[in-house]
Amino acid sequence: MFKLAVLPGDGIGQEVTEQALKVLAAVKEKYGIEYETASGLIGGSAIDATGDPLPLETRELVAQSDAVFLGAVGGPKWDGPEKKVRPEQGLLGIRKLLRLYANLRPVKCWPQLLDQSPFKNEKIAGVDLIIVRELTGGAYFGARGTEVVEGEARAFDTIEYSASEIRRIVQVAFALAGERRKKVTSVDKANVLDTSRLWRKIVIEEAVAYPEIALNHLYVDNCAMQLCINPAQFDVLVTENMFGDILSDQASVLGASLGMLPSASIGEGPALYEPAHGSAPDIAGQDKANPLAAILSVAMMLRISFRNAAAATAVEQAVAAVLEQGLRTADIWREGNILVGTAAMTEAVLQALP
Ligand code: NAD
Repeated sequence: MFKLAVLPGDGIGQEVTEQALKVLAAVKEKYGIEYETASGLIGGSAIDATGDPLPLETRELVAQSDAVFLGAVGGPKWDGPEKKVRPEQGLLGIRKLLRLYANLRPVKCWPQLLDQSPFKNEKIAGVDLIIVRELTGGAYFGARGTEVVEGEARAFDTIEYSASEIRRIVQVAFALAGERRKKVTSVDKANVLDTSRLWRKIVIEEAVAYPEIALNHLYVDNCAMQLCINPAQFDVLVTENMFGDILSDQASVLGASLGMLPSASIGEGPALYEPAHGSAPDIAGQDKANPLAAILSVAMMLRISFRNAAAATAVEQAVAAVLEQGLRTADIWREGNILVGTAAMTEAVLQALP
């Protein structure tokens, strides 16, 4: 039996997780999916209950699971420079524990929501891309330090990548592209950085095994520009940790709202699925959160971990249908739309499931 660990977390994380699980339950019978769930604490709620943002029980739960669904963590109650334990430590801890090395952030410009983006409609029509970001290497994990040299403070961070670290993430990108529009764009800074030159060499080597996939390389600065001037050209973008961190936030602006963006993180064991947004304390507990990012994260889980593309497509089609009906939570509402809350939006998705 497929074991799903559910970590609702804090704020709207709890609300959208509850809704997303309803959608998973709804496709269960029709698509022959079998699973059992077990819930655990993470983030602020875990600090309140145990003093630890990632308690031992949660560690054991996720380690024994086949996939993890996470809501979001954090909130003002646990913020503040004086706080030694913080909710985000739970997130970092789980990523480390599960050795999640690939972060997948799809950005789709839904035709029904083009007006919500700060970009012109014609620029973003047809955008359906996915950023594959390396998560465990690069500047965020390299040797670092601050020292005083000749009376002046100096600091350094180093970027390191091994060939095998690059190879495994590049393979994720090529495999994904094979199920999509068969195009990989590798993003680097090979005109300046040694790590990028190794990156490009490995990408070219790996591409040989995927003759059906079109490959191109972009320097990261050019990629940032292309994401503004012609984002519809991209299918799968693959890049190292810091470039991916920045580009995925840039690309998220193409989508209508944080409330529409799902994500997945893949490692050697169970994969982790979570909406790209945080715990949104400003709207928590008010039935205002957009559940669609979480519901679309369920679709990613169905496709990747359950290997059930039909069920994943059904969920995505249901999301498209409710948008087509004009239903909108507050974050994506415009004059002429029908304003609904978190629960009503989910109910409409359930009704629209093919
Ligand atoms: P946030 O994503 O929580 O919210 C940013 C803005 O977007 C807010 O105005 C919020 O109301 C809105 N928003 C976000 N998701 C929405 C949804 N589903 N529907 C409607 N509106 C939505 O980011 P923030 O305000 O910078 O952070 C709030 C807390 O969340 C902080 O404690 C932060 O550390 C944490 N956080 C957690 C994660 C995570 O768990 N992965 C990610 C980012 C931030």
